[in-house]
Amino acid sequence: MLINVKEYFKPTSVQEAFELFNEDRSHSVLLAGGTTVALMKSSTIERIIDLENLGLNSIAENEDSVVAGAMVTIEDFRKNPIVQKHFGNFFFDAFSLVGSWQLRNMATIGGSIAPRLGWSDVTTCLIATGARLIVYDEQGYKNISIDEFNHTPKEKKPLITNIIFPGDGYHYSFKKFSKSTFDIAIINVAVGVKLNDDIIEDTRVVVGSRPQFPTRFSAVEEGIKGLKLDATTASIARNLTFENFEGGSNLKASVEYRQHLASMFVERALLEIREMVL
Ligand SMILES: Cc1cc2nc3c(=O)[nH]c(=O)nc-3n(C[C@H](O)[C@H](O)[C@H](O)COP(=O)(O)OP(=O)(O)OC[C@H]3O[C@@H](n4cnc5c(N)ncnc54)[C@H](O)[C@@H]3O)c2cc1C
Repeated sequence: MLINVKEYFKPTSVQEAFELFNEDRSHSVLLAGGTTVALMKSSTIERIIDLENLGLNSIAENEDSVVAGAMVTIEDFRKNPIVQKHFGNFFFDAFSLVGSWQLRNMATIGGSIAPRLGWSDVTTCLIATGARLIVYDEQGYKNISIDEFNHTPKEKKPLITNIIFPGDGYHYSFKKFSKSTFDIAIINVAVGVKLNDDIIEDTRVVVGSRPQFPTRFSAVEEGIKGLKLDATTASIARNLTFENFEGGSNLKASVEYRQHLASMFVERALLEIREMVL
């Protein structure tokens, strides 16, 4: 609970929101959907800066990309026709596994990336699509990768304004393993594949909730590039994931269990993409 909140701001521009936040970061919190903020226990937060009126809640289509405002909710995003046109059922299916319907109607895309949760299904899926962030800080607007955002020191964290998705013709699959449908992931995997006929031209293999931040497994990506998308290649990818797995243990699962699950899911994701496309 935020027991010492004294001021509530509802700025109408990105610049104003960032300045309000930046002038007293240690006592301020940005508010998006509020699903994480509502659970915060802090006696130092005195100022809430609500992002609702910044105009960041729409989705647009450019010639070669899709641009979503950071305040678009997960439910609106998964059901959006532009998103479905570019990504088929990928986000519709993957994001149906995020929490509950009630939660997805509150939680935003920007608010899901910003807290840098290792187990975020949203972040794993975004990295697999090659999504980048438009952020705002003292230097103005910047286009950065999610990895750069995750490695920005806390005291320099910018405000996320938009997420840009390249429309580059990949096919995707997402796999999540959790104790119940409502629980957070023990492991999550998103795979993107670009095909030339049935040959893998390029791929993005992302594993999250390792329990560290979701990351791309480049050894797997490189290992299957140029191969035919078939059961043998899927099994090569499973072995490569197992051999190159980097993760850890926590109360939810051991590193060995995660290594096994991640390997199986990479294989299954590739087989699913093959089934969908070929
Ligand atoms: C019960 C429960 C179940 C969940 N299950 C899942 C799940 O299955 N899968 C999954 O992926 N996630 C899950 N989540 C996580 C959910 O995605 C996070 O709570 C996420 O933070 C939601 O975003 P929000 O818009 O509510 O953020 P808020 O709670 O408003 O904000 C979260 C943090 O991000 C900061 N922030 C928000 N917007 C921005 C911005 N534009 N720029 C910079 N900083 C910003 C805020 O200051 C705050 O620190 C679950 C959460 C809960 C509470």
